[in-house]
Amino acid sequence: LDHGLLQQARTAGVDVRFGDRVTDGGGQDVLAIGPRRADVIAAGYVFETESPDGNFLALDNSLAPGGYAYLLIHQGCGTLASCMFTGFKRQAELVARTVEFFSKTTGLEMRDARPFGGFGNIRVPHTAMQGRRPVIGEQAGFQDALAGFGMGYAFRSGQLAAQSILTGNSYEALWRRSLLPVLRTGIANRFLYELSNDSVRRSALRQLSKADAGHKLRSLYRPSILTQLAYPVARWRLGKALNDPSCDHKDCACVWCQHELG
Ligand SMILES: Cc1cc2nc3c(=O)[nH]c(=O)nc-3n(C[C@H](O)[C@H](O)[C@H](O)COP(=O)(O)OP(=O)(O)OC[C@H]3O[C@@H](n4cnc5c(N)ncnc54)[C@H](O)[C@@H]3O)c2cc1C
Repeated sequence: LDHGLLQQARTAGVDVRFGDRVTDGGGQDVLAIGPRRADVIAAGYVFETESPDGNFLALDNSLAPGGYAYLLIHQGCGTLASCMFTGFKRQAELVARTVEFFSKTTGLEMRDARPFGGFGNIRVPHTAMQGRRPVIGEQAGFQDALAGFGMGYAFRSGQLAAQSILTGNSYEALWRRSLLPVLRTGIANRFLYELSNDSVRRSALRQLSKADAGHKLRSLYRPSILTQLAYPVARWRLGKALNDPSCDHKDCACVWCQHELG
């Protein structure tokens, strides 16, 4: 995906500079430096394997507190991760458990496993403008509160920022109309997910396994009466739930602490 986007940008005449920290771009900037704090962490491995293709999802707090663990294999390349919404200090243990779990349940054998990880922040911004500059993607806080799927928001908000610059239309009005309803639905979904118990989660997994998962997940993000009713409480609760108390930046090697030290 990254390489495809880079190629498209260069073909369109964009000057891309790697390893070049921007302090003040000047001119008509769009701000897009990504997440600024960790509300969710994903950590795991990319690897090679002889195992057959497959997509596996586990909803289990002992592997990924508040989140999910996954294993994806495609033509001999694999990725496995624990996406945790809390318990950051136990990142190494949770990743090790996730490896053990998928090895046991799918017979996975990883070759040349390289660790990877990253973090995301979730919030509904009061404004996505900094002065006269549109802020897009996770820097603005645009992120899916249920699962941490922020790429669609990054693309869409980037497109809206460009549109606002080209047409003179208000970016603030554009993102509020286009992104806010789905952002709110994500927050309500997280609240409802946290209320659910193991048997509800098991049934959700069964349904996802049987049907077209993309289609099912898309329908989950359509605002409904339930998500609209749940939203005010969900937003209040989200504010309290974030800021993982387990990560106090002391003797902690989670990706968020590594980033802060780097
Ligand atoms: C492990 C992991 C797995 C994920 N999986 C999914 C998924 O399956 N689906 C999905 O939708 N989302 C996923 N996400 C979330 C998704 O990657 C992010 O929401 C999305 O990339 C946010 O895009 P962004 O452009 O706002 O920020 P980023 O992708 O973080 O890009 C910001 C860039 O700005 C650069 N930067 C920062 N400061 C400066 C500076 N001063 N000067 C120049 N450059 C700077 C950073 O180095 C970075 O390259 C995942 C996230 C992680 C960590």
